Amino acid sequence: MTNAANNSIPCDTLVTAAVVVSQNDARDVLRDAALAITDGRITAIGPRAELTACYAPAETIALPEAMVLPGLVNTHTHAAMTLFRGLCDDAPLSVWLSEHIWPAEAKLTPEAVRLGTQLACAEMLASGTTCFLDAYLFVDAVADAVQAAGLRAVLCQGVFDIENAGFKTSDAALAAAAALADRLAGEPLLRPAIFPHAVYTCREKTLERCAAFARERGVLLSTHAAETARENDDCRKANGARVIPYLHQLGMLTPHTLIAHGVALDDADMALLAATGTTVAHCPKSNMKLGSGIAPVHALRAAGVTVGLGTDGAASNNALNLFSEMTTAALLQKVATSDPTALHAGAALDMASRDGARAIGWPELGRLEPGCPADLCALDLTRPQLQPNIDPVSDAVYAASGGEVVLTMVAGRSLFRDGEFLTMDYDRLRSEFGKTALRLSGR
Ligand SMILES: [Zn+2]
Repeated sequence: MTNAANNSIPCDTLVTAAVVVSQNDARDVLRDAALAITDGRITAIGPRAELTACYAPAETIALPEAMVLPGLVNTHTHAAMTLFRGLCDDAPLSVWLSEHIWPAEAKLTPEAVRLGTQLACAEMLASGTTCFLDAYLFVDAVADAVQAAGLRAVLCQGVFDIENAGFKTSDAALAAAAALADRLAGEPLLRPAIFPHAVYTCREKTLERCAAFARERGVLLSTHAAETARENDDCRKANGARVIPYLHQLGMLTPHTLIAHGVALDDADMALLAATGTTVAHCPKSNMKLGSGIAPVHALRAAGVTVGLGTDGAASNNALNLFSEMTTAALLQKVATSDPTALHAGAALDMASRDGARAIGWPELGRLEPGCPADLCALDLTRPQLQPNIDPVSDAVYAASGGEVVLTMVAGRSLFRDGEFLTMDYDRLRSEFGKTALRLSGR
């Protein structure tokens, strides 16, 4: 024995793996590597031999045939809409929303939202997502479900000027947003935010009040914006400006604002987003499915706008799977620009990890570095579609489906391992969820 320091540094968990895709600033990809974790944070990352020699872990998770990635960050979803998956497909946004989704949502209860959110948490864990931004009704029930499942989330109180199952007025919604911010104060894994639904469902005064709320409480503001060309036309008729300049007039574009979709953007819109530090949640599958168009992601990124990836809700995607979203995002930009270099695999992975984390105002997520929260997922490298693993980032974006995930960890705690959900009784959840979903859909 020559090294007196052998196994002398205590840590909670040592994860060893065939490959670690760090997503640090240098985008280091390490082979035969390890991560040391203590108190939910990464304390070291490096060669396996080095870390196993100097750390004395309470627990070792050995993944000799797996690839570890940062836990993925879903920047836009409505988790409980899992209840409405398959309820209405192949219809335009306006029909889908007003004839199918809103009537079904009118029947929602807090218990239904809790079940729908928990099922969404299961789906996200099984496909490597560790953090998501959620905007929905009955946000207390959402918080209960996410807390029980153990994921990290930005939980938004949705605000409308249309009566819904959650509240009758936007005043009531703003009061609920304040109560949510109080409830989540000091909560390590959950952050509050506010989500005025869109310019076409919120009055000007309501939008301004939401912006003021975000400023006063120091929380993120997110909203659906420029999802379709029609939204710009309607906004011009109603308010004399396209959606993005209109939001700017109301003081809603700031570095703490995340717009969802951003499909129908012109150069001036993009310049405004860049100048104000506003971020964008790109939801390619939802945009494709609803025929909304193709967001100019390549141009947004070139303009310096931070773009994350989102699945949107399960009623308009229909999956909450960021691996498939990465594939789609990369391919769609190539189609849109007739340029195969438009959005490379590394950019798609950035959007699903570190850029998404910045987009939701949580920049220490989406990367595996000392000091960062230990949120990660691991893919089984024995699967045929991941052979021969020449380029791990390429495989994660273009070859993996998400079904290869064998471990998902949030803040150093394993929540999903080898097909088992460690924080929920999945069979019971599935049964209760199924009954509730069928009742809501009237089938
Ligand atoms: Zn949405």
